[in-house]
Amino acid sequence: MTELTNLTLEKARDGLKTKEFSSVELTKAHLKRMDETRDLNAFITETPELAISGAENADARLANGTAGLMEGIPVGIKDLFCTRGVKTTAASKILGDFIPPYESTVTQNLWNSGAVMLGKLNMDEFAMGSANLNSAYGSVKNPWHVKGEEKDYVPGGSSGGSAASVAAGAVMAATGTDTGGSIRQPAAFCGLVGVKPTYGLCSRWGVVAFASSLDQAGPMTKTVRDSAIMLEAMAGHDPKDATSAKVDIPSYNSLLKGDMKGLKIGIPKEYQVGGLDADIEALWQQNIAWFKENGAEIVDISLPHSKYALPSYYILAPAEASSNLSRYDGVRFGNRANDPKDLNDLYEKTRGEGFGEEVKRRIMIGTYVLSAGYYDAYFVKALKVRRLICNDFKEAYKKVDLILTPTTPTPAFAIGEEPKDPIAMYMNDVLTVTANIAGLPSMSIPAGFSSKGLPLGMQLTAPAFEETKMLDAGLFIETAAEFAAKTQERRSAS
Ligand code: GLN
Repeated sequence: MTELTNLTLEKARDGLKTKEFSSVELTKAHLKRMDETRDLNAFITETPELAISGAENADARLANGTAGLMEGIPVGIKDLFCTRGVKTTAASKILGDFIPPYESTVTQNLWNSGAVMLGKLNMDEFAMGSANLNSAYGSVKNPWHVKGEEKDYVPGGSSGGSAASVAAGAVMAATGTDTGGSIRQPAAFCGLVGVKPTYGLCSRWGVVAFASSLDQAGPMTKTVRDSAIMLEAMAGHDPKDATSAKVDIPSYNSLLKGDMKGLKIGIPKEYQVGGLDADIEALWQQNIAWFKENGAEIVDISLPHSKYALPSYYILAPAEASSNLSRYDGVRFGNRANDPKDLNDLYEKTRGEGFGEEVKRRIMIGTYVLSAGYYDAYFVKALKVRRLICNDFKEAYKKVDLILTPTTPTPAFAIGEEPKDPIAMYMNDVLTVTANIAGLPSMSIPAGFSSKGLPLGMQLTAPAFEETKMLDAGLFIETAAEFAAKTQERRSAS
C-alpha cells in the first residue's frame, strides 16, 4: 500500500470508504509525519488528542453510513481561524494565549463535513507577509530543497505553515487565507494547489480580520480535485457575515472534466513585463501551447490599470488593517502590558510590545493614508483605481473565459536571501493582488520546475463565481504538467 501520508485527499476518501484503512490509522500516520517534520516549524499549536477523538468519531460515522464530504480527513488550520477552545494567535504576540469561545464558520463547516484537525498552522503575523518570516513564532521552512545545496527556502506567505505542512505530508490539506496572494503564492512556492475563491464565497466570520474587503479563505491541497472537494466543504452562505454571498455551492469535483475545447484563455500583455524569471516565462509559454494543442483559443487581452494594482493594494490593505487592528488595545483581547502609568500608556505599551515590525509598518501606512490631510490623495484615489481595475476585468471577460498568468515573478528564495527592502518584498504580490482588488476567484496550479528544481505555479483567474470553470482548467494544467509524477521522479532521483 502507498504510504498513507502520500495519498491525496480524494484517494484517502476512497480508502476510508472501502475500509482499506480507518481514519484513526490515517490520522496517526499524519501525526507521526508531523513529529518527523517538526523542524519545518509549520505548526504553532498541535492538537493530537483532538485529532484522535475526531478520527474515532469519523470512523463511527463512516461505519454507520452518515459520513460527510471530508469524513476522517486530517487537516491543518491556519492560525487566523478562531477555533473554539483551541489557542488562536494570528502568529502575533499581542493575542497572547487567546482561546476563542467560538468557532469560525469555515472551520465549523469543515468539522460538519467530518474533517479532523491536527493543529493550528504558522503564518505571517496577522497574515502580513510573503515569506513567513514575520511570525512571532519563528519562520517556517519550505520542505523543498535544491539538490546539492544546504540552504533552506521560504515556503511563501502568509499561509506558509499551511503550505509547508501539506507539502511535507503532515496534513492532507489545509485552510489558508488570501488578502493579496497568501494562498496562491505559498502554494506556488511549495508545489501545491491553492484556491482563492470569489469574495464572499467563504464566510469571514471568526477569521481574524486583516483587510476585510480583500480577505478570503480557501483550500490548499496536493491536487485540483482535492481543492474542489475541500472548497465545497468550506463554502456556503453565512448570515453572520454581511458580505457572504447567497449562492448555491455545487459539487465542484463531480463537474470537472478537464476538456478545454472552445475555451477562450486571455493572456494580459501588461503581465509580460521584465523582472519575470526566465523559467517562469518559459513555463507560461509552455502552458499556452498546451491550451492551444487541446482546442482552447488563446486571446491577447489588455488589463491597462494592472500597474497601479500593487500600489493601490498597499494603500487599501494597510488602511483597513489599521482600523481592524485598533481592537488590540490590551483591554479586550490577549496580552496587556504591565504597570501602565495611565490608559494611553496601557495602549501604547501593549501595542508597542505586542505587534511585530511589519504589522507596525502597515498600521503606520494605514493611519497615514486615512488621516484628514491625505485621505483624498491616497485612500480615495486607491478606491478609484480599484474601480478601474474591476472595469478592466469586466471588459476582458467579454472576450475570454479565463485569464492565465504565472502566480509569482520568481520561484521561492532561500531564507536569508530574501529582499531586505520591504517594497522589494511587496513585489512578490504583483501578479496576485489584482484578483483580490476585483474580488475574483483565482488559483495557483503547480505546473513545472525552475532550472534549480523548485516548484513553479501558474495562475488562473475567472469571473466572479466561475469557480467550476477555473477548477476545470486547473485540472487540465495539472494533468498536462504531470507535476505529481515528476515530483516522484525527482524524489527517487535525489
Ligand atoms: N503578501 C501580501 C501582504 O503582505 C498578501 C498577504 C495576504 O494575502 N494575506 O499583504
